[in-house]
Amino acid sequence: MKACIVRSPAPVETNPLELVDLPKPEPAGEQVLVRVSACGICRTDLHVIEGELPPRKSPITPGHQIVGVIEAAGERAGRYAIGTRVGIAWLHSTDGTCEYCRAGKENLCDDPAFTGYTVDGGYAEYALAEESFVYPIPDGFADLEAAPLLCAGIIGFRSLRLSGIARGGRLGLYGFGAAAHVAIQVARHWGAEVYACTRDERHRKLALELGAVWAGGTIEDTPKKLDSAIIFAPAGEIVPAALKALKKGGTLALGGIHMSAIPSLDYNLLYQERVVRSVANNTRQDGHDFLRVAAEIPVRIATVVFRLKDANRAINALKNDAIRGAAVLQIK
Ligand SMILES: [Zn+2]
Ligand SMILES: [Zn+2]
Repeated sequence: MKACIVRSPAPVETNPLELVDLPKPEPAGEQVLVRVSACGICRTDLHVIEGELPPRKSPITPGHQIVGVIEAAGERAGRYAIGTRVGIAWLHSTDGTCEYCRAGKENLCDDPAFTGYTVDGGYAEYALAEESFVYPIPDGFADLEAAPLLCAGIIGFRSLRLSGIARGGRLGLYGFGAAAHVAIQVARHWGAEVYACTRDERHRKLALELGAVWAGGTIEDTPKKLDSAIIFAPAGEIVPAALKALKKGGTLALGGIHMSAIPSLDYNLLYQERVVRSVANNTRQDGHDFLRVAAEIPVRIATVVFRLKDANRAINALKNDAIRGAAVLQIK
């Protein structure tokens, strides 16, 4: 099969993704083999490729927003029929036994595996997954639209939940890439008023098209104080600005897996019971809940499509904020 691999982390400007031929993987145990048709590109892929996330497997095939059909199954897999369309997301597996798994917080598992980071992902024609960790894809979504739902969508959804945003509340979204462009649709469905703060003019325009009441820069004062905010951009210097925009008692959720250093804060920015919290991974329940809501709304996904052989170009475009909505690799 064709796959894009990274041998060792390097700046994406050096085109570190290499298109190679690899043996087609074989499913064992409870695994399913998925013939990949689309794989979304996530900012986390950029962190894997450039090494902000320390390498855990080398070489690695990135990609954790995979849509395809089950082509074969291991001897203990039988939950889905061959030919079922499924999605594979970031959380590849958990130990199921640690204190977090037992407490229903599998997103915090002590011994997890992650798709496209600790095991090979979907920048390839085939990928393996544990059958209990795949998601049936709602019929209303084409493969290319469904792919970004699997991380941008699910993590955006968990971030919304953790931000505590309620009906009628005011929500700030900092950074307006793939995750925010889905989260805004869910937030509006829940009756929230959305303020978009992003450095890129094209992203501000998209936010307004998707129903933001205001769009401005990342450190600009919002016209009204916010009940909740989410930072999707990996830039710690936004934290003080976002805290400044929050009402008393408001919550700031940090949606990324990596963020540059957060500058020291004047305590007044945090006082009055403001909360800052990170968002780590997601539970399978988050994933199933989100896909149901996404189909109900239904969310609309703006995609910029690339071929697998153009993966380097795609990841460079993502780094340069040149993607309107979500970047997706069309594998087949
Ligand atoms: Zn665990
Ligand atoms: Zn992701």
